[in-house]
Amino acid sequence: MKKLYAIGIDIGGTAIKHGICSSEGILIQHDSIPTPADAPKAIILQKIFEVISQNLALSQEQGMPISAVGVGTPGSVDIERGYLMGSTPNFKHWRNVAIAESIKHRFDLPVFADNDANLMAFGEFSFGAGKEKKDVICLTLGTGIGGGIIIDGEIYRGSFYAGSELGHMSIDYKGRQCNCGGQGCLERYASATALIQDYNLENPKNPVSGTKQIFLLAKAKDKIAQKVIKNFVSYLAAGIANVVNIFNPEMIIIGGGVSKAGAVFIEDIRDACQKRAMPVSFKNVEIVGATLGNDAGMMGATAFALKSLGKKGVVTS
Ligand SMILES: [Zn+2]
Repeated sequence: MKKLYAIGIDIGGTAIKHGICSSEGILIQHDSIPTPADAPKAIILQKIFEVISQNLALSQEQGMPISAVGVGTPGSVDIERGYLMGSTPNFKHWRNVAIAESIKHRFDLPVFADNDANLMAFGEFSFGAGKEKKDVICLTLGTGIGGGIIIDGEIYRGSFYAGSELGHMSIDYKGRQCNCGGQGCLERYASATALIQDYNLENPKNPVSGTKQIFLLAKAKDKIAQKVIKNFVSYLAAGIANVVNIFNPEMIIIGGGVSKAGAVFIEDIRDACQKRAMPVSFKNVEIVGATLGNDAGMMGATAFALKSLGKKGVVTS
């Protein structure tokens, strides 16, 4: 099969990650710029145009023609039009954006856009931890919890592009209030934000600012750190057990900075999950850490763009 190249853009609340990746998952280059999250959408689009221009120039230098552009953004994306529907948290004006159309207007290239968590999952599925699998579910533990569901090699989005919000499944119906309007949502207990909050609540005199510190403290036998991590693992396992019982996937991939805590952490999640999930549903499920790190979303965007080329109903010309 002929090797193809695509540009991937991953728009996050703090950084726009961008780069070039081949159809075989070889990362040619990657970089990032700060996101002007409070700026009007025309300014954000301008930044995206600039990084696309840079990548196009580089691809010409290297003799690697670009076949498509893929873009990931927070929020619900109508993938037929590459259109961001409604608003996104962490951005002031980034709402109702004709992403694919705007980029196509500027560059004569096929452009495809999707939700960032979907593309992160698709990146791990295409080129990372899940590349040998067909049914994969990805949970990214960060400020919140992003979820992506791949069923039989395809991204599952729900009927109106707003499904797979795994971070907003309730694990306690009387639990903590969530920004989404729900109560007891998984991300209020098992995101990086929640872990830091829980630690600082228990130890207000010596607050921490990152999860890495908490894991280091636990290693140094700090009782509070050990306790909040133990709870964190139980919360996460409750959520994952629900996912396992419903989807019975081949693999659960855990991403985000917290997943770098190591093999023991993943092992603890697996053990806690096994105690809660139905044995028949859990039996063959692998629970692993993500392998592409910060590049998963951007690489997933390139994989999605190349896969979508020529597909019916998608903007291609
Ligand atoms: Zn919620």
